Amino acid sequence: MAGVLHRAALRTSRLLQCSKRPSRYHNGSLFFSTSSRRPLMALTGFTETQLTVRDAVSQVCSQFPNTYWQEHDENERDPTDFHATLAKDGWLGIALPEALGGSGLGISEATMMMQAIAESGAGMAGAQSIHANVYATQPLAKFGTAEQLESTIPNIISGRCRVCFGVTEPNSGLDTLRLATAASKQPDGSYRVTGQKIWITCAQVAAKMILLARTTPLEDVEKPSEGLSLFCIDLDRSKHSGLDMRRIKKMGGRAVDANEVFFDNYAIPADSLIGEEGQGFKIILHGMNAERCLLAGEALGLGYAALARATQYAQERTVFQRPIGMNQGIAHPLAEAYMRLEAAKLATYHAARLYDDGSVPAADVGVACNSAKYLAAEAAFAACERAVLTHGGMGYAVEYDVERYFRESLVPRIAPISREMILNYISEKVLGLPRSY
Ligand SMILES: Cc1cc2nc3c(=O)[nH]c(=O)nc-3n(C[C@H](O)[C@H](O)[C@H](O)COP(=O)(O)OP(=O)(O)OC[C@H]3O[C@@H](n4cnc5c(N)ncnc54)[C@H](O)[C@@H]3O)c2cc1C
Repeated sequence: MAGVLHRAALRTSRLLQCSKRPSRYHNGSLFFSTSSRRPLMALTGFTETQLTVRDAVSQVCSQFPNTYWQEHDENERDPTDFHATLAKDGWLGIALPEALGGSGLGISEATMMMQAIAESGAGMAGAQSIHANVYATQPLAKFGTAEQLESTIPNIISGRCRVCFGVTEPNSGLDTLRLATAASKQPDGSYRVTGQKIWITCAQVAAKMILLARTTPLEDVEKPSEGLSLFCIDLDRSKHSGLDMRRIKKMGGRAVDANEVFFDNYAIPADSLIGEEGQGFKIILHGMNAERCLLAGEALGLGYAALARATQYAQERTVFQRPIGMNQGIAHPLAEAYMRLEAAKLATYHAARLYDDGSVPAADVGVACNSAKYLAAEAAFAACERAVLTHGGMGYAVEYDVERYFRESLVPRIAPISREMILNYISEKVLGLPRSY
């Protein structure tokens, strides 16, 4: 493992020759704004590779200031050039095999990358424009055939082809095993897909979707987790293809599209299937645990960005002839937000380490990834809310960014799995309490 990381670190630093850590980034969001050079997030315990990733990605992101994200949010415009810039520098392949053009690093480094993206001020929107390319490709990289990998992965890494993740459905919601989209096998081995997905991020700009669909009806399987299959499909938007989509108006992260996607007898070739037919749920869990780690990292990034902005404002804003940060009513909640973020950070990188280890039982990885996502989402929400309140009226103004962070901080609490379902999972699987649903 160490050898792989070392090789990958070299590769990463070759990709990004400017990995010297600046003392302060463009918008001051990574460090305190005073003469102190102490980073807001404690950096002890991270590997050199993770720190290299953090520095290098932060530098790339510094080309995209907060005003870029404000404008893209307001105009609901896809951050195409942001995605292209990260792709050009090889970042989309951070956790994909070196043989296919990736960096061969793990979810630990990918989580750090997603944290740095969110923390730069890009927030959840910036992260969401990238993240499915990283996590949804994990099951493909692990279970796909050589032909599937060769025809897709290099194009995803180069940014020629973007990916979305199609799991959620309007009628089943969090009860994923009851999803109704059906892929029916045809005599020639191809499939026809009929059904509806909802909340599919980046479907408007993606060329591929990692799709979970039922290949055996629920009533014909012993367990609901059986009979689901995973596919990597092309999104053919031509007329009469049987594919349609409708953009959802949403509260935050408006730069990236979220969609209802409709399949009506949509044809997909036999070689779209990833792994064995009927094993899709087991296969997708591999991507879902990675997704929870990345989302946890994104939430952390958003939380630290908000906290840095709040701290800066608390130092600079003078009311009653003294900085507002002198009031414990302002300072203590910020100190608490910091400690919550730091604790969630430990849980997040612990989970990512277990995921990358490869030998840890899947159940333990699941518990760690779910716990990390929960803790990071809650810590980020608390930090973002506090950042708005610290800014008083200006917390409500777009130009101070914290209202955007606050709107976006709801996302990791809801998706990809809600906080309530994580609490259900821990109650049942760890504490052994009776299942409540
Ligand atoms: C911005 C955004 C982006 C997204 N991107 C994607 C994407 O790219 N691809 C994708 O497939 N999906 C995506 N999603 C969907 C997301 O994963 C789902 O919204 C999420 O899983 C919740 O499902 P639901 O909305 O159907 O909620 P529901 O299942 O309808 O649940 C509603 C509420 O009821 C609660 N609830 C339900 N059952 C129980 C129970 N038994 N016990 C306690 N509480 C319960 C839930 O916790 C929740 O609070 C996205 C969502 C958002 C908001």
